[in-house]
Parts: sequence; C-alpha cells; structure tokens
Amino acid sequence: MPQRVVKDKFERPILSLRITLTNRCNVNCIYCHHDGMVSSSQEMTPDEIYRICKIAKKIGVRKIRLSGGEPLIRKDIVEIVSKINSIGFKDISMTTNGILLKKYAKDLKDAGLDRVNVSFDTLNRDTYEFITRKNYLSTAKNGILKSVEVGFYPVKINMVLMKNVNEHEIKDMFKFCKKNDIVLQLIELIESENCDDDNFSAKYHYKLDSVEEKLIDIADDIKIREFMQDRKKYYINGGEIEVVKPVDNSCFCANCTRLRITPDGKIKPCLLRNDNLVDIIKHVRNNESDEKLEKIFLNGINKREPFNKD
Ligand code: SAM
Repeated sequence: MPQRVVKDKFERPILSLRITLTNRCNVNCIYCHHDGMVSSSQEMTPDEIYRICKIAKKIGVRKIRLSGGEPLIRKDIVEIVSKINSIGFKDISMTTNGILLKKYAKDLKDAGLDRVNVSFDTLNRDTYEFITRKNYLSTAKNGILKSVEVGFYPVKINMVLMKNVNEHEIKDMFKFCKKNDIVLQLIELIESENCDDDNFSAKYHYKLDSVEEKLIDIADDIKIREFMQDRKKYYINGGEIEVVKPVDNSCFCANCTRLRITPDGKIKPCLLRNDNLVDIIKHVRNNESDEKLEKIFLNGINKREPFNKD
C-alpha cells in the first residue's frame, strides 16, 4: 500500500519529524540557537514519544531525527530509540555533540538508530574550548570514530563556520572526514537570540558563497538533495561535502519537509518561530484517541508557512 503523504498549504510534504528530547546539554556553544526552543525543563517519557511517533507514521512521516539540547544526556535514550524503531520508520537519526557516543554508540546501533550527525566544528583544542566552553575535544573525536566503527552510515560531521574562528579549517576537517569515511556538512551560522553579544553576527557570520564557488571549481560531481532544502552535495576526490545555508534562503524554506516537536511536547511548525506552537502532549496525557491526535498534528501542519519567502 502506498504510504500517505500530507502536504502543508504551500504544497510541502511532511516527511520528517525532528524531536528535541531535552533542552539540557553538556556543552555551552557560543552560537547555539537551542534548536529554536524556548526554555523549558519538562520532558516527554519514552512512551509519550512513542505515541507521538506512531501518529506521525500514520500521517506519512518517514524519518525521525532526535536532537536536543544533547539527546545523549537522557539516561533513557536507548529505550527511546528502541521504542521508535519498533514502529518501522525508513530512517532514524540523531544529532549529537558526540561526547557520549563512545559510551552509547553500540547500544544505539543495536536499538535501531541508523545514523548520526555529530556537531564538531574544529580539530583544534583551543578553538574547541572557545566554541563549546568545555574541553571535550578528544572525547568527542573518539565518539565520532566509535560511531564509524559500530557501523552508523553515513556518519556526518556538522561544522558551523565562523569568521576568524574556524573558517580556515575546512581543508583539515575534510581530510579527517575523508580518512574516516565521514561526510562533512558545512553549516552557515544562523543569528541566535541566545547569544549574549549584540555584535555576534557581524563578528562571526561567514558567508558560504565563496566556499561554494571553490567547491564548484574542484568537485568531481555535484548533486542536489531534493526535499532536503535543495542542499548541494559536492563529491571531491572520494570525499563528500554538503553545504547548508539557512540564512535568508527562500529555497531552504520552500523545500522544508520537516516538522518539530519540543521537549515539552509541542508541535513546532517552523525552526525559526515560537509563536505558533501546538500542544499535543496534553492530549497524549489525557489518553485521547488516535483520530484526535491526528487532527492535532494536521492543525500543526496547517500552521506551517515559509519563514523566508521569495
Ligand atoms: N547537542 C546536539 C548537537 O550538538 O548536535 C544537538 C543540538 S544542536 C542545537 C543541533 C545543531 O544545530 C548542531 O549541528 C549545531 O551545530 C547547530 N546549530 C546550533 N546553533 C547554530 C547556529 N547559531 N547556526 C547554525 N547552526 C547552529
């Protein structure tokens, strides 16, 4: 039977669900947008997450991504993955800073996690400490290598580029990625309300256009990831680089197929907005019917609109 596809008012199919499992984190990155979440210490139980994912599957969601805060901070993370895995999604992935991956990678793989994206902006100890305000560089690096070893595929490194901080490290990071069969994702810094410094963007924002121009010159092949905000993938000398440019990018929004869930159980129609959240957890906690929960999901989808329009 063909799988159902629900589209929003802008004809964008809803194919993936990004669940922010917690706002807690074991680092404190200077640029962090906290996945666009407002602060809340409330979290959903594994059973509540399971119920929400079951409804998501019913309305056509194919992929689940777990994020945070730091998702591996949750002691019940393996149980959460295992429960989601029992529903039968095409893909379950996680975005993590990698610090706890050495401990959890094997159990997560066994529980059904397909792949990981590890946020890792630098190979330089001082720069790592400057960005994360912690000194876990080796621990995170070992976590990345462990995730390759247990067979997550592909493992991706998310590198947020910052002017005069790490923008000169692309070559070294690509070398590390290529050697370990890891895909490198270069991410444009998004302005974040959470930064204490008013001049943050002016100081650190680094436009990726010039990087892309160079990549076009040297790539052996270039592909566009349809339904993934039309991101470009560059194949270079046996390695792979993806470029993610969410800033003022109408194309990014036009091709967004992702719905989000906040740690305290609200549907979040857009990464960049917090004024149109739809509470679903209260209905889950009231043990309401699948039909009712489905309606709430559709209500959340109905509120979606591109943040950056043409
Ligand atoms: N703790 C996990 C991690 O480190 O990957 C998940 C949460 S983190 C908020 C999710 C992703 O958002 C990371 O890849 C991080 O690099 C990215 N991110 C956070 N703030 C950002 C910003 N201001 N601009 C661009 N990307 C950002």
